[in-house]
Amino acid sequence: EPLVGVLALQGDVREHVAALEHVGASAVKVRRPEELESLDGLVIPGGESTTIDKLARAFGLADPLREKIRAGFPVYGSCAGMILLADEIADPTQDLAGRPQETFGGLDITVRRNAFGRQRESFETDLDFKQVDQAGGPVHAVFIRGPWVERVGPGVEILAEVDPAHASHTATLGGRARIVAVRSGRLLATSFHPEVTGETRIHELFIRMIRGEA
Ligand code: GLN
Repeated sequence: EPLVGVLALQGDVREHVAALEHVGASAVKVRRPEELESLDGLVIPGGESTTIDKLARAFGLADPLREKIRAGFPVYGSCAGMILLADEIADPTQDLAGRPQETFGGLDITVRRNAFGRQRESFETDLDFKQVDQAGGPVHAVFIRGPWVERVGPGVEILAEVDPAHASHTATLGGRARIVAVRSGRLLATSFHPEVTGETRIHELFIRMIRGEA
């Protein structure tokens, strides 16, 4: 079975470990650069992208991870994890020295942080989600200050969009469908948190990507 790491610097690590084990992977928490070496793939959890970025640099994980991603290492990023995989952030924060927030990058997309609004505007909706087992019906998605994708480069597949007709967020959405799940090669990213609802088909897709079956 594939050995999948969960980046355990900050965020909802335990839920991803449980979801990975549920779909037949071995899951380990990762905090040190050496721990990346034996992995078949990595999950970057939700949390706060600026914090995860700072800690990853402090722990010496940022550069090795960036290199591995460039070399084809499979990574799934959820929420803050999607932001960290994006090549570009529409609205990056700046630290006290005025340096913009960094990402690991690898996905040719532009994301907007907190796009659906603040914590109190967190919402749930059902999504048609490509490449997962369709027999289970739509994917129930929980959004907690999640980003959306404003631009996808060539080679990036759109797997799911929030339909403005279904959401309680018609005004925020600007009457447009918004991209909330993408894939490019062996990189997968969702704006939402499948790990909190017991939805395991996204993790299952990721494992199939690692195995070269999807
Ligand atoms: N808003 C957070 C960020 O910018 C992401 C929120 C989440 O991961 N639930 O990183």
